[in-house]
Amino acid sequence: MTGLNGRRAHVVGGGIGGLTTALALARQGASVRVFEQAPEFAEVGAGIQITPNAMRALEALGLRDALDERAVLSDAVVPTDGLTGRPLARFDLRGYSPRYRFIHRARLIDLLAEACRAAGVGLTLNTPVKVTICEGRPVPDLPDDGPAADLVVFADGLRSQGRAALNGAGDPPFTGQVAWRALVQGDHPPEARIHMLPGRHVVTYPLAGGVTNLVAVQERSDWAAEGWSLADDGDIALVGDAAHPTLPFLAQGANLAIEDAYVLARCCAEDGVGDGLARYQDLRRPRVSRAIEAANANAGNYHLGGPRRWIAHRGLNALGLIAPGAFLSRLGWLYDHDVTA
Ligand SMILES: Cc1cc2nc3c(=O)[nH]c(=O)nc-3n(C[C@H](O)[C@H](O)[C@H](O)COP(=O)(O)OP(=O)(O)OC[C@H]3O[C@@H](n4cnc5c(N)ncnc54)[C@H](O)[C@@H]3O)c2cc1C
Repeated sequence: MTGLNGRRAHVVGGGIGGLTTALALARQGASVRVFEQAPEFAEVGAGIQITPNAMRALEALGLRDALDERAVLSDAVVPTDGLTGRPLARFDLRGYSPRYRFIHRARLIDLLAEACRAAGVGLTLNTPVKVTICEGRPVPDLPDDGPAADLVVFADGLRSQGRAALNGAGDPPFTGQVAWRALVQGDHPPEARIHMLPGRHVVTYPLAGGVTNLVAVQERSDWAAEGWSLADDGDIALVGDAAHPTLPFLAQGANLAIEDAYVLARCCAEDGVGDGLARYQDLRRPRVSRAIEAANANAGNYHLGGPRRWIAHRGLNALGLIAPGAFLSRLGWLYDHDVTA
């Protein structure tokens, strides 16, 4: 392990992916600065589900206690017939270690920003970073007159300038799925309920403080698959939605961003920045591709109509009764994955 002592890293974007990357790099000894366009670190929107795979990385970064002060432990996933309100099955999540959690995005961002500050990361707000191409390389226009960074990480989200500059691609295509997010006052059992209806679904789960999180998704046109690509380009990397915009039907976009952050910092610390980034890409591409495919497939499964809906719901019923462990064991590749191992 070479570590990143004395190395300078700049992170563009201070969302979940950017702040986790900054923290992971700082933990490896790098001197890190984050540049965020917004005037404050804040997440609009509502809750987020943190699954065991990302929890392992957050725990390894020392965030377990801070998370537990702000999160709700999830007991189960409950697929529900959205037309009748009748639960179709109940899949127990309590056996997972670490446990599956629900947290308000703003609280997660707060705790990541606090941990970054405590680790000596420089956080610069109000700084929309522009990217220019210089001799074929994307160069972020950063307000920093110090020495050049050894590593630049773009964590600037779905409409990433870094991705556009690296890959020449524009915004990801419209997926045909439109999501609304809301918080409503009132208690909810400690479980995620997926209310499935033809062409749409609603997910509800609790957040700390007696608030219920609600995500409603509706199909608005034909399906268009999203992809991601990451060009080998020396000391520049993409993480999170900037690298791989992911539909929310597996609740993995932020979880994958957290995994990315941990793997990127570790690979760079172990192999040095150049070789580390190549290994980061090799490790992340197959896993993220699989998660994207599984999320895409869920859109179809959640939104079935007609006889296929009836058959699928009877199947879920039977599975919940006969083999409640089978549904979640199909997700073992996702939740059991340990980027810290
Ligand atoms: C309805 C819905 C529900 C979801 N639920 C879940 C869930 O339960 N679990 C889960 O894991 N994922 C979930 N996701 C996905 C998750 O929200 C995203 O994958 C995740 O937030 C991506 O994080 P990020 O840091 O990569 O990008 P972002 O959160 O988009 O952060 C990018 C940051 O970069 C900043 N930025 C952008 N451009 C610039 C610039 N030029 N200069 C400086 N700063 C810039 C932005 O202001 C922002 O702060 C859900 C998504 C949706 C839509």
